[in-house]
Amino acid sequence: MNKNYVDVNINPCKMCMPMGGALAIKGLENSITLMHSSQGCSTYIRRHIAQHFNEPMDIASSSLTEEATVYGGGNKLKKAITNVIKVYNPKTIGITTSCLAETIGEDIERIVSEYIVENNLKDKINIFYSGTPGYGGTENEGYYYTVRKIVENYVKPSKKHNKINIITGYFLSPAEIREIKNMLKIFGVEAIILPDYSETLDAPYYGKKYKRIPSGGTKIIDIEKMSGSLATIELGVLLDDKKSPGKYIEDIFGVKLYRLPLPIGLKNSDKFIKLLSKIFNKQIPKEIVNERRRYIDGMIDSHKYNGEGRATIYGSPEMVYSLAKLCDENGIKPVIIATGSENKLLQEKLEKELKYKNIKFLIDTDFETIGKISKEKNVNIALGNSDGKYLTENYKIPLIRTGFHVHDRVGGQRENRLFYKESMNFLDKITNCLLENKYSVYREKMYKNYFLEEELL
Ligand code: SF4
Repeated sequence: MNKNYVDVNINPCKMCMPMGGALAIKGLENSITLMHSSQGCSTYIRRHIAQHFNEPMDIASSSLTEEATVYGGGNKLKKAITNVIKVYNPKTIGITTSCLAETIGEDIERIVSEYIVENNLKDKINIFYSGTPGYGGTENEGYYYTVRKIVENYVKPSKKHNKINIITGYFLSPAEIREIKNMLKIFGVEAIILPDYSETLDAPYYGKKYKRIPSGGTKIIDIEKMSGSLATIELGVLLDDKKSPGKYIEDIFGVKLYRLPLPIGLKNSDKFIKLLSKIFNKQIPKEIVNERRRYIDGMIDSHKYNGEGRATIYGSPEMVYSLAKLCDENGIKPVIIATGSENKLLQEKLEKELKYKNIKFLIDTDFETIGKISKEKNVNIALGNSDGKYLTENYKIPLIRTGFHVHDRVGGQRENRLFYKESMNFLDKITNCLLENKYSVYREKMYKNYFLEEELL
């Protein structure tokens, strides 16, 4: 929030809650999101997701009108479900809501139960509801809340098996989910990954044959079996228990929960790899040990340049947490840490854990505030999504675009920062940006600082 104005947020550092819900639902096999909302909300979300991933993104809407707002939108929602089934024939429909639907207090669960009975659809289709009003949180909260709803609806008692559960955190790209799968393959182990949009939001080219719902995504039949897994690794250290999908599985089915940060940077990657090794009682493969050694070697090489870095890091809390740790362990000072979420744990944890102490935390903030304070604090690099381009335009602070959403560059769906090798590549990007910035103003600074003085003598 910009403190110079009362209750005004100028370019908020967040998107809205159903955006995260739609991403989570896209990670389910043969699924579609139906928003109980007026049309603009679904259009806004579709546009952002399609631009970032460069994939078609269908989100249906019940198209609430003035009449439905006054008298209730149950009939509209039922009609929308019928149309969605006719057009897409999905196995799963995730119903999310907007500010309007929640404000008028629609009883979605009752409407859906009635619909299932009226149309004789019991056991023929999965329809679940996740309440995601924009004022209830950001896309980060919408994502975890919807994943929690998925596990509450579909995990059932099942036999024990040798897989683990991995709850993918917000925000990972499709390439990063594939990187996790690759890591499991190197270890020779298996997991039920939820949600898995590694294919649905980065689909291969299939020629002219267009699929309305792309292949891939977590199968409901696998979600049912998450209760029999060896353990759950949840990528999210800033969630409270009531919002945690893994905590639900632990409380109801007794599956041990481990919460880890997004495995970006050395220590965060170590935590993931050591835990895999511990749960499956397997040695860390040589290939991974060597990648770690190479990463440390690279960290040493670039440390002398990184020491000049003064960073603003902004975005969703879990991503900001891991990027701040990566910067800190490489000598880049995380001068400003900002998020649009109202997440108090982010500050609490980072204040304790980071070596650099002179940090300005901005919680539930906007880009107007981030920009002004970045300027005051002599920030020379920013890390975050495309919405921070104003930092470059207004204050000449170079921006490394990372996370969701990146709409003014290509490749957001292919971004990969996970584990040692890709953390190194990401760190190289930061170091090279600092170097480029330094050399572009190097001569000018030298002239101002030294030669001008000499001429005056
Ligand atoms: S903030 Fe509310 S009204 Fe605006 S797009 Fe999000 S859900 Fe819709």
